[in-house]
Amino acid sequence: MSFRIKKGDTVMVISGKDRGETGKVLTVLPKDGKAIVENINFITRHERQRSQLQQGGIMKKEAPIPLSKLMIICPRCGKPTRIGAKITDEGTRVRICRKCKAQI
Ligand SMILES: [Zn+2]
Repeated sequence: MSFRIKKGDTVMVISGKDRGETGKVLTVLPKDGKAIVENINFITRHERQRSQLQQGGIMKKEAPIPLSKLMIICPRCGKPTRIGAKITDEGTRVRICRKCKAQI
């Protein structure tokens, strides 16, 4: 599945409340078809104060977002694009930008 979104890719959200936001993929969850993207789709958790030393408060955490809502941003042309696949002369499958044909 080398033509899919991978950890470290920069992606744009194409639907939902975070539409238009961009961020870096921190984790891909292939089983769920989701990814965790830096600074996108935050959920807040109210933590209780556990001890006198530890402060309670609001914890912010990124929630997984479906891969279908994400589009990769091509590092070369800087645009959100679909990922194409290409077989190199060496026989390895690489991901390419459908817009500028650059290898991603
Ligand atoms: Zn491109």
